[in-house]
Amino acid sequence: MWRFVILAVLLLIVYFMVRSAVQGFLARKTQGGTIGAAEMVQDPVCGMYVTKEGSFFLQRGDQLHFFCSETCRASYEKKLA
Ligand SMILES: [Zn+2]
Repeated sequence: MWRFVILAVLLLIVYFMVRSAVQGFLARKTQGGTIGAAEMVQDPVCGMYVTKEGSFFLQRGDQLHFFCSETCRASYEKKLA
């Protein structure tokens, strides 16, 4: 029984830590005034906006396509084939 209580408390702590970390990250992102600096491009598969840095991309001729995930890139590749 005690194990469950401890586990629940630990999970709660982890949850709050992750949540505050995410919120801090998002706040930094919006307060940084990086609009324009970090170029946002649209994922042609799911329509999500991603930054060019650290996103998945596919080169086609002299054009670069950016994707939010490996899954989107793979399905785009499949569509082209
Ligand atoms: Zn996507």
